[in-house]
Amino acid sequence: MAFIEVENLTVSYGDTIAINDISFTLEPGVIGLIGPNGAGKTTLIRTFLGFIRPVKGKIIISGFTLPQEILKVRAIVGHMPEREVVSPKVTAVSFLVYCGRLVGMSYVDALERSHEVLNYVGLQEARYRPMQTYSTGMLQRVKLAQAILHDPKILILDEPTNGLDPDGRLEMLQLIKEIAEQRGVTTILSTHLLPDVQNLCSQIVVLKKGKLVFSGDLQLLIDSRVNHYEVSVQPPIEPFKEELVKMGIKFQELPQDILCLQLPEGIEQKEIFHCAQRAGTMVRSFMPAGGSLAELFQSKLEK
Ligand code: ADP
Repeated sequence: MAFIEVENLTVSYGDTIAINDISFTLEPGVIGLIGPNGAGKTTLIRTFLGFIRPVKGKIIISGFTLPQEILKVRAIVGHMPEREVVSPKVTAVSFLVYCGRLVGMSYVDALERSHEVLNYVGLQEARYRPMQTYSTGMLQRVKLAQAILHDPKILILDEPTNGLDPDGRLEMLQLIKEIAEQRGVTTILSTHLLPDVQNLCSQIVVLKKGKLVFSGDLQLLIDSRVNHYEVSVQPPIEPFKEELVKMGIKFQELPQDILCLQLPEGIEQKEIFHCAQRAGTMVRSFMPAGGSLAELFQSKLEK
């Protein structure tokens, strides 16, 4: 059984369908949840946390079925929400002790663990100051600290680098990497920043307008692009496309009349130039297709 299984999941807010019949499976590791605003990322997270009941479908997380076993799931999940959760007049230590008490720790355990995780996220003396004096980066660290307080098996991070300057962003990504790799915590990173995902994640789930665009192993996806080329020819491009079809060369149309071609095994690059010749046109540009996530998905995720 997969670590996370989602089958035919549909979630709605009244008449608005936020997640529309999606299915995927995920294994332990760092998982990127990506998609533009309104894609359904937050809704999926809220459904995993049991805040919303699906209209239909099945979710199994680490062997527990939702919504029936939601308390068991909550016990093993830490959540760093996108919105602010801290009280401005309270110190980070008091806030974390309160969070620890909420999940059932004794006062002494909660205090000890609060100091441990605040050290871990790099909040030193500041932990005794009211949080209204904190920078955005420090507040993000407090949110991360509360998410790992109860030593979860799964960590769900909603836009963890939001509002951070470039240095703060790198520090936050480094912290997440350490937690995931050294502590073996399966981490779901929801973000619209594709480079963050490419740096950290081994698997991805891509959503757009509530539909699944892609799910699976990121490296396999990138490797599968080895025989892909981006080509543009002098217009008109229709005869060129017909020649490609005749040769059994598959292609996808990108903006600005660029074609992303997949060369089947046994067909050499020069065949593309021959296709252009036969179509009475000329190749204007020819280059290996980009392997970055942004290049793979940007055009699909744009409105
Ligand atoms: P994302 O996190 O990817 O930006 P959301 O899950 O927030 O996407 O939103 C998915 C869809 O659900 C959007 O169309 C959004 O307008 C709608 N939606 C989100 N929250 C609510 C809500 N509380 N009530 C009604 N519609 C909502």
